[in-house]
Amino acid sequence: MFESRIHRLREKIAEEGLDALIVTGRKNREYLSGFTGSAGFLLVTAGGGVLATDFRYEEQAKAQSPHLEVYRYETPRDGLSRLVREKKMGIVGFEAVHTSCWELAEWEEDSPDIAWRPTKGLVESLRICKDEGEIQRIRQAARLTDKGFEHILNYLRPGVQEREVALELEFFLRREGAEGVSFAPIVASGPNSALPHARPGERVLEPGDFVVLDFGVIIDGYCSDLTRTVVIGRASDRHREIYELVRKAQQHALGEVGPGKDALAIDKGVREVFAAQGVAEHFGHGLGHGVGLEIHEAPTLSSRSTDELRAGMVVTIEPGLYFPGWGGVRIEDLVLVTPQGMENLSSSSKDFLVL
Ligand code: ZN
Ligand code: ZN
Repeated sequence: MFESRIHRLREKIAEEGLDALIVTGRKNREYLSGFTGSAGFLLVTAGGGVLATDFRYEEQAKAQSPHLEVYRYETPRDGLSRLVREKKMGIVGFEAVHTSCWELAEWEEDSPDIAWRPTKGLVESLRICKDEGEIQRIRQAARLTDKGFEHILNYLRPGVQEREVALELEFFLRREGAEGVSFAPIVASGPNSALPHARPGERVLEPGDFVVLDFGVIIDGYCSDLTRTVVIGRASDRHREIYELVRKAQQHALGEVGPGKDALAIDKGVREVFAAQGVAEHFGHGLGHGVGLEIHEAPTLSSRSTDELRAGMVVTIEPGLYFPGWGGVRIEDLVLVTPQGMENLSSSSKDFLVL
């Protein structure tokens, strides 16, 4: 598996006219090597691959990445300059998004004969479509996330603080086997629910609140992402109307997901549903994003997207409407693009729930 990923990367390295690529992005490195340590880089050449790390991780690197030569360095700077000299490299690509200006300046100073070439998205473009093993992990993560939502429903009632809800949710998910949460859970109640990325605070849930719950877990390195919105105590007609509109828009978008579809068009379809009701300006973020080793990765579903959906992509569909000072609704599912269309990996209820 790792060999075939590196093989596909080599094709890209050749297309770019490079002798080698230095992979410094941590998740990119993990994707190609299986190595999960916090320090190290990969040097991928036409004929080989070297995983460079320090003393702390040498044994772990050998165990996790038997398909690679493991090289131990004193400092990453020193390791890199020795390796490019030893391997007689001429044109070396680096990941511009994952390299600091300072690091590049050091490399140029140490190895002035090398032509250093910035690259963008080479490994990310391999990660965009998931293989069976990856899908399996994401599916497991989505399943546990659904369990978390079911659990927290019993906990939501007037008088509970947002941060207590977030803590209970995280505790439950960890106890049930998550290796971590994919981001700090969002629990946003009342007026806070109008802030798409509110942080759970001391506010206490009150009757008549919308509560937006947005959270996910990590299983074996892979993330999940789910949002549900419920009402506390009593709901008004407006609560129901806004909720049903977001649900309708989300349902519409789910029906559009499939291989060969333009992400831009799916996003646009949702904006049209909202525009028909005169609320388009209350949906100010993108419709969705890819999910994998990172909670936000390619592709992007937004009004600026140039991505086309392909089988194997795992993306979120998460429209929302936000009314400052009053509240907001977001509904988010995690879906797998399949050769036939799509499979929804999230199964939490989307009924209008008043708790
Ligand atoms: Zn989310
Ligand atoms: Zn999301």
